[in-house]
Formats: sequence, C-alpha cells, structure tokens
Amino acid sequence: MTTTSILNPERPKDITVDRAAGALRVTWLDGHASVYPLRWLRANCPCATCREERRSSALNTDELRLMSGPLPSAEIVAAELVGNYAVRFTWADGHATGIYVFSALRASCPCLACNPDGPPPILADD
Ligand SMILES: [Zn+2]
Ligand SMILES: [Zn+2]
Repeated sequence: MTTTSILNPERPKDITVDRAAGALRVTWLDGHASVYPLRWLRANCPCATCREERRSSALNTDELRLMSGPLPSAEIVAAELVGNYAVRFTWADGHATGIYVFSALRASCPCLACNPDGPPPILADD
C-alpha cells in the first residue's frame, strides 16, 4: 500500500464507533454508509497474529476449539487514523495490531447492495 489519492472514493467522510449498537459506522466520500458489527471486525482482524490463528484453526478445527479461551473482546476503546488510508482500533483487551485499510473495509461492506452473499474477510495490508 504505497499510493493514496486524495480523490480516492474509498475514503471515509465519517467514522463513528456506535458502542450502544456494537457497530462501526463508516460514511464514504460517495455517500455510501457501511455498518460493521464490532464482533465481526474483531473476528476478521487483519493483523498477522489473528490471521495465523484463523488459518490454523481452519486446519485443526476440533483441536483448536477445545484449546481456545474466551472470545476476544469486541469492544473498541480507541480508534486512530493510519496515514489517510487506514484505521487502527484498540480493543478493550489491549489488542491493537490490526490495521483496517479503507479500501478493504469498503470491499467488505456488509450491506446487501455491496455483498449480497455476505461480506468477504477483510484483506490485510501487506
Ligand atoms: Zn489481530
Ligand atoms: Zn455497502
């Protein structure tokens, strides 16, 4: 991720964490609004650690299910912009390595118009 255009439509105009609803609302420059459940965002955390965890649990489903502890936190305590291309969340359990690239968030918009078959996983920034 090296080029970023000011005219990129895949940039948010507004980002709100709606804690009561447990959702992240993103309004894009073209006016489209996306609502991401926080639990889903956390489950799709694009950081290397979480991706590795998901990869190995997909390979060893039964084993890992027994070993896995409590569900990771789905509460956001802080959100900060990374350059002008991504946002990084700090979750209530301290996890803060996931960088959510705007274009990847937009591609994973959970609305029926964008993804009628359900949102694809968020692509990692690498
Ligand atoms: Zn992560
Ligand atoms: Zn959408």
